[in-house]
Amino acid sequence: RQEQYRALRDVAPVTRDGIAIDLQLNAGLLADLPHLEETGAHGIGLFRTEIQFMVAQQMPSTSEQQKLYRAVLDAVDGAPVVFRTLDIGGDKILPYMSAIEEENPALGWRAIRIGLDRPGLLRSQVRALLKAGSGRDIAIMLPMVATVEEFTRGREIVAREIAYLRRHGHAMPTDIAIGVMIEVPALLFQIREICALADFISVGSNDLLQFLFAADRENRQVAQRYDPLGVASLRALRLIADTARESDCRVSICGEIAGRPLEAMALLGLGFRTLSMAPSSVGPVKAMLLALDAQEVGAVIREKLDDPETGPTLRSTLAQFAERR
Ligand code: PEP
Ligand code: MG
Repeated sequence: RQEQYRALRDVAPVTRDGIAIDLQLNAGLLADLPHLEETGAHGIGLFRTEIQFMVAQQMPSTSEQQKLYRAVLDAVDGAPVVFRTLDIGGDKILPYMSAIEEENPALGWRAIRIGLDRPGLLRSQVRALLKAGSGRDIAIMLPMVATVEEFTRGREIVAREIAYLRRHGHAMPTDIAIGVMIEVPALLFQIREICALADFISVGSNDLLQFLFAADRENRQVAQRYDPLGVASLRALRLIADTARESDCRVSICGEIAGRPLEAMALLGLGFRTLSMAPSSVGPVKAMLLALDAQEVGAVIREKLDDPETGPTLRSTLAQFAERR
């Protein structure tokens, strides 16, 4: 199997019905970068910037951040990278930052909420990203956004840093895209507005499903109680894919489901064309898509999702579809 996947490294990820797919990596450390070469993935769909902060003994300086981001941009050699701004709080605690007591940390003061309430940290990070991106395209993504206003406020912070660097004569990135993670269910009901404003969106299905089903992603007792291929989650994912397409907004998915072949098959059927995943998933997902008729599986999923007689999940339907190939 491993050998078989390695042999696929240089095979273009195109479905049997001719649709080109972008397979990207989720990463967070310099040590992850050699996986680009090993897997043949096209860039990094999610760079988790908080990991540098989590492994450090003290708050990384702006120049330390800039150095890491530059190294990442150098390693991808022109391929896209999406840098997610700090997603700390919840289960991601920084030892050198005083944590506040919270009943429900996953629902608490975390990610963009900290970024907007204590903008010094976010500003320094955005500045590091913009400097690291000089002469390149750069994509900055905001995590745990729950309202349109949080996005526009985050974007204002970026705009302010851009103006500051310009004023001081710094070389700027060739393009600056600002995107949003879709991982709080409230955004499903503002998805049109978000797509109109953001340069791109990326589905964080780990959190989106955790919150959609009110089931702690770290708690095995409850994590198995819902199915990512159930009708509720597939309808949510369909809404995102359809609205992004209608709005002409770039969309990707970077949660764990993108790296599971059966789930990835459903995502391609729904219209997702960019999947970001752990390095070990690239081979299995590529093997799946090379054999896939994406239009055909899409038609099956859409028909089932609109049929009131459909049971709670499409898992067995999809597994049968995959078997027939
Ligand atoms: C997600 O929530 O799906 C995601 C990709 O981000 P993280 O797992 O870092 O929360
Ligand atoms: Mg998340």
